[in-house]
Amino acid sequence: MITKPKGTYDVIGNDAQKLERINRLIEYFCDFYNYEYIRTPIFEATDLFHRSVGDETDIVSKETYDFKDRSDRELTLRPEGTAGVVRSFIENKMYGTILPKKLWYNGTMYRYERPGNGRNREFTQFGVEILGSNDPAVDAEIISMPYRLFEELGIKDLNVKINNLGSKEDRENYKVALKKYLEPHLSELCEDCQRRFKTNPLRILDCKVDNNSEILKNVPSILDYQSEESTKRFNKVLEYLEYLDVDYEVDSKIVRGLDYYDYTVFEIVSETDALGGASTIAAGGRYNNLVATLGGPDTPCMGFATGLERVMLAMEDVDKRALDCYIMYVNEEEKIKAITLAQDLRISGVSVDYDTTGRSLKSQFKEADRNNAQILVILNSEDLKRGLITVKDNLTKEETKVDENEIIDYIISR
Ligand code: ATP
Ligand code: MG
Repeated sequence: MITKPKGTYDVIGNDAQKLERINRLIEYFCDFYNYEYIRTPIFEATDLFHRSVGDETDIVSKETYDFKDRSDRELTLRPEGTAGVVRSFIENKMYGTILPKKLWYNGTMYRYERPGNGRNREFTQFGVEILGSNDPAVDAEIISMPYRLFEELGIKDLNVKINNLGSKEDRENYKVALKKYLEPHLSELCEDCQRRFKTNPLRILDCKVDNNSEILKNVPSILDYQSEESTKRFNKVLEYLEYLDVDYEVDSKIVRGLDYYDYTVFEIVSETDALGGASTIAAGGRYNNLVATLGGPDTPCMGFATGLERVMLAMEDVDKRALDCYIMYVNEEEKIKAITLAQDLRISGVSVDYDTTGRSLKSQFKEADRNNAQILVILNSEDLKRGLITVKDNLTKEETKVDENEIIDYIISR
């Protein structure tokens, strides 16, 4: 028997029902918040991720699936969604259209990680990006939208951790202070951090090995190294979040695992036990320099992404969706009526099913219950001769005979 590759999984049973519910809600939300759908390729030029996510990040230094195609092109399975969206924004000259551009995506991502609870090699991210606005109201929307989505999905103990990384200049000032503080303790940090000290000291705050050490607990706060303008901007974001009733906590250690962030960064966590160590269900931030870094015009942007596997873990089980209508029949004449009526009802927006395994009428009733059918249509030749169809309300058990020509309207009105 051939089994699935390590770190991948099949979505079946209750997980599949959860994922359907999540996907449906995502579509509603994106519609209500006025985002346009975008789909970009699952593989991109390897360079795209090196230049955007950053060489010194875990994602690019150890987690990408890189390969050469048959013509020796260097390609990478996308580890995240923003780089591809920004590439597309530039390549399709969307910066020349009316801004901001509000885009959403939902698709599989690939990272060569050690698989565990809420950590897979193939996983799914839903994310949105707002390109072309630096308004703090954008930051507030990018944070509150997934927050409200998770609430709607019934996820408990939600909290937003938010930080301000400031401008490039603010970060440079902070890096000097951070290095000065860390230098005497360097030998006590992990090997990766010793390298990061030279290449990208901010990354040390994101280290999964050292994050509980006393040294990292007492690092200077990046919030103390912000310009007045940056602090003012951040306070505005917090003010808007308060108006929007979002629970947040300022956490000066949140830097996120990607290089392109500046100003606001955040994580949404849920402390439900089901998530184990992987309590971050969504994360994002502002990236005002990425479009320019990838060759486009200066465009301030912000976005978030959420891992749907973690959302599924944090959710309670969902009930199987109820079927609107189950049609029952015994002989061939009734069967023909069943399949045509089912088609007409389905086209009219009613969910319908009927037996295709030769079940007895008694088993068809059981099958209707198993499908949680609300209305039963019981076809019988005698009735059909008189132009009538028996309809039974499966909750009240009330039965009526309805004129064949009015059956669709009758069922829709129920
Ligand atoms: P972590 O610190 O948990 O590794 P990250 O910083 O790598 O997360 P991002 O790159 O910001 O995460 O991705 C955003 C979201 O995508 C995460 O909050 C998580 O929900 C999800 N995610 C990231 N990596 C994985 C994975 N390997 N499997 C499942 N979900 C993932
Ligand atoms: Mg990671």
